[in-house]
Amino acid sequence: MAGPARPRVGSELNELAIIEDGAMLVAGGKIVNVGRYADIKLFIDSETEVVDAQGCVVMPGFVDAHTHPVFGGNRVEEFEMRARGKSYEDIARGGGGIQSTVAKTRAASEDELKILRVIRRLNKETELNYIPTFLGAHAVPPEYKDRSDEYVQCVVEQMLPAIASQKLAKYCDVFCESGYFDVADAKKVLLAAKELGLMPRIHADQLTRCGGAELAAELGAVTADHLEQTDTTGIKALKRANVQPVLLPGSVYALGKSKYPAAREMIEAGLAIVLATDFNPGSSPTPSIPMMLSLACTQMGMVPAEALSAVTVNAAYSLGLGDRVGSLQAGKDADFVIHDCADYREIAYFFGIEHAQATYTKGAKVIARRSQTLPSAPSS
Ligand code: ZN
Repeated sequence: MAGPARPRVGSELNELAIIEDGAMLVAGGKIVNVGRYADIKLFIDSETEVVDAQGCVVMPGFVDAHTHPVFGGNRVEEFEMRARGKSYEDIARGGGGIQSTVAKTRAASEDELKILRVIRRLNKETELNYIPTFLGAHAVPPEYKDRSDEYVQCVVEQMLPAIASQKLAKYCDVFCESGYFDVADAKKVLLAAKELGLMPRIHADQLTRCGGAELAAELGAVTADHLEQTDTTGIKALKRANVQPVLLPGSVYALGKSKYPAAREMIEAGLAIVLATDFNPGSSPTPSIPMMLSLACTQMGMVPAEALSAVTVNAAYSLGLGDRVGSLQAGKDADFVIHDCADYREIAYFFGIEHAQATYTKGAKVIARRSQTLPSAPSS
């Protein structure tokens, strides 16, 4: 994934900079050198720990640029209701949906800013690096029913200043969707966030074409996420403002829908697309990036190389981490994964299984598993 110090667009998404018989020298949690084994082996001395990854694919660690990883309870009841034919919107009107998770998450303790505090704690106590985003405007809470203006005012005047002063989030997001927060509400929240130094991201055009993509462009948002309903006009607006689209095929799949975002058109328009899981208990209950790679290649017309660029280097840039992670280059964090396959395309091709054999963050092995045997991709 080595290349220019910016996200990949157009045909660059295909350029993975693969090194056959490669090796990587790591020290102090950083990548020191990457190249062919024949050259790198000259640096091996008696102090060097050698990790043999022969026959495997070594790649940058996946960067998941859109998740909702902290929640109380789960929504397995709704999963069955949808299996019986109810829609996501029907369930939300009946008191389910985002509201039901919010109620359980709130009940789990007393504090509005709890989710962000949990993320801060996860950053200290786990090996994963979380980038916190404030999504106070996700659904109007029941106590503000029919008073959504007042809720928006509460987000702007009370929550955002508290979050900014405690530095609990880097970004601010809004669920811009009919029945949730319209363009005017979303604009109020995101402008206030910008004033306080929180950069905007937007859940845009997921269920309806409601102007979210254009709003993202108008505000200079870092990303516009979902975009299932975004059309050519919206794509042009995103391009004009250099907004990165974050595509979340897991939610289309898990809601049993068939309209995936127009990834091909976005790539052809020159957008630096990102793929992410949208991991959450309602619409995308999976943290599996390989599953997103499969969906991108089977449902969205992307090729494996494009999909991999979208979950590594491009995802890293969308979170302001492009100089640290997302590619295996000297000077970056030694965040990498050894995949138990001989060809990178197998990660998207064999779906529903885990390919990662060992995961390293800052040079330390944090997850290892026993390898499984799969047939190599046929040569014919
Ligand atoms: Zn989301």
